[in-house]
Parts: sequence; structure tokens; C-alpha cells
Amino acid sequence: MNTQAANKRIRLIMDLRTKGITSTEVLSAIERVPREEFVPEQAQDQAWEDMALPIGLGQTISQPFVVAIMTQGLELKSSDKVLEIGTGCGYQCAVLSHLCRRVYTIERHKYLLEAAEKRLNDLKIRNFTAIAADGMKGWPVINRISQAPFDKIIVTAAARVKPPQALFDQLAVGGIMVIPVGEPGAQVLKRYKKESEDAFAVRDIISVRFVPLLPDVSEQAL
Ligand code: SAH
Repeated sequence: MNTQAANKRIRLIMDLRTKGITSTEVLSAIERVPREEFVPEQAQDQAWEDMALPIGLGQTISQPFVVAIMTQGLELKSSDKVLEIGTGCGYQCAVLSHLCRRVYTIERHKYLLEAAEKRLNDLKIRNFTAIAADGMKGWPVINRISQAPFDKIIVTAAARVKPPQALFDQLAVGGIMVIPVGEPGAQVLKRYKKESEDAFAVRDIISVRFVPLLPDVSEQAL
């Protein structure tokens, strides 16, 4: 890495600290993941700026601050099994992969998912499993194997009214789910802690802007 690239990384980490990210584990995971590998050619100059960027098919790679605050809200442990809904370009998955045991990630756009998987493999990230499916239904039973419950769940697209029930069901008791909820223009990032099979503690984190959660799998080309 040249000095200019290293400086850009350091500047972003300092910026995230100033904005209130206190977890050194989260900051160092963000520093380790080469964000430039996840953004398209025309956005390379902004790869280490604290901003969301387009990744095709009307989708975006989240702003680093939002990735950081969501990841921090999960209070990850190295033994955690994490479910992510909305793989997108795979950036959030890469950050999570450095902080937990394994990431199970679901994307509804088949071709975005294939590109993300390739990128993550090229970066030699091995502790993830990715599938194209409707994440609102949770992780499906595959070859009679059910991966639920998950210690943590992160949803990177917004639910209109409330989190999908299937995701609550797949969260372990004691587990945490971070998810944006609300209509476009009025979304709030929420953190749910599952206290028992049917009780949750809920906390609002910040206002956010995410693309909506949509049903079904899309085979739209990149
Ligand atoms: N975490 C991503 C950002 C995701 S943008 C990153 O780090 O780049 C939100 C993604 O959620 C989009 O790619 C969108 O296609 C996907 N999505 C929306 N609804 C979904 C659903 N029901 N199941 C799975 N993915 C979904």
C-alpha cells in the first residue's frame, strides 16, 4: 500500500472515532478490509471517504460510519454465528468476518451475490456462507441442516413497519439484531435484544437511509 492510500485509511478511522465509534475491534476490522475492492471503478477515489456509494442495480455499499455503528451495536464475540440479510457487494460481510466465527449472508440479487462471493474469496475470507434467497424468510434449511439460531442478526435493507417475524424466530435468546425500520425518509436503526422466547428490549440508534427490503430472488443482470 502506498503512503497516500495508508493516509486515507488512517483519516477515515480517525473520522469514525470522532463520530463516536469507540470499539477498537470494529475500527481495526474496518481498517483491515480494503474498501476499494468493493466499489466500482468510477468511485475508486471515494473508496475511503465516509460515504455510501453505488454498486449497481440501484443498490449501495453502506457508509463506513453506518457499517461501524451497526457492527458495534452487535457486540460481537469471536464465537458468534452471525446472519446478515443484504450481502450487497460483500463489504459488511468482510468486516463481520474478522470479528466473529462465521457469517451466513443472504442476497436477493443473484448476480450481486455472485460478484460479492468472488470478491470475498479473492480476499481469502473463508468463514462465510452466501446464498441467493429472500432474507425476510430467514436462513433456509439446506440438505436438512438448519443453521438457526444465530447469536447476532444484521439487516442492511429497511423493513417498512417491523422486522420480519422469521428473523426474530431465528435469533438466539440473549442475541442481538440490528435493523433499519421505517418508511423511506423516516427510517431508524433499531437494536433488538432477545430477552426470552417472546420478549425483546428495543433501542433506537440513529436515523438512517437504506434501500427497502424486497421479497423474492431477482435475476436481473448487472
Ligand atoms: N451490506 C451491503 C449493503 C447492502 S445494500 C454492503 O456491505 O455492501 C442492501 C442489499 O439488500 C441490496 O443488495 C438488496 O438487494 C438486498 N436486499 C433487499 N431485500 C432483500 C431480501 N429480502 N433478502 C436479501 N437481500 C435483500
